Amino acid sequence: MTGDWHIDRIDEEMPRFARAVLSFTDGTRVVLDDPRALSTIDLHPAGAPLELGLGPEPADPSLTPESLRRALSTRRGPIKPALLDQRLIAGLGNIYAAEALWHARISPAAPAQTLTQKQITALLTAIRRVIDRATGARYTDSSVSRLAVYDREGKPCRRCRTPIARITQTGRSTYFCPQCQR
Ligand SMILES: [Zn+2]
Repeated sequence: MTGDWHIDRIDEEMPRFARAVLSFTDGTRVVLDDPRALSTIDLHPAGAPLELGLGPEPADPSLTPESLRRALSTRRGPIKPALLDQRLIAGLGNIYAAEALWHARISPAAPAQTLTQKQITALLTAIRRVIDRATGARYTDSSVSRLAVYDREGKPCRRCRTPIARITQTGRSTYFCPQCQR
């Protein structure tokens, strides 16, 4: 989202939204700068194997329309919050999820387990498309103007001109086109 890691020196001024600081004996400092305070940090003992319980990343070839359909077939609830669950797909944030659903013409409120194989194939293609587009130039507030649907409530859909709607799902804003995402 909007946060980032800064690597600097321990005698430099702290970034404005510093949430966590790691200071090293050589004077290097790693600072988590996160204006929205949405990040979390897990601590693990040195040498402990990491079992993060994360699903495949979008570019992982093991993630296929068939594997995604299997993973969604047991889920209750709508597709949008499911996409934010890092156990399903790792690294998909709120903006990407909204954008991908718009490209795939799927309602964010559609029950995850009712999506057809065709819809899931379109969804996976759309996820990879929005992630690829963001690579190297991650979505930030300054790039919101280029987004298809995210943060565009009341503005015309870029496909059909219907005003974009906003709902809240599990505490997060979801933007969608009520016309082309039924
Ligand atoms: Zn539309």
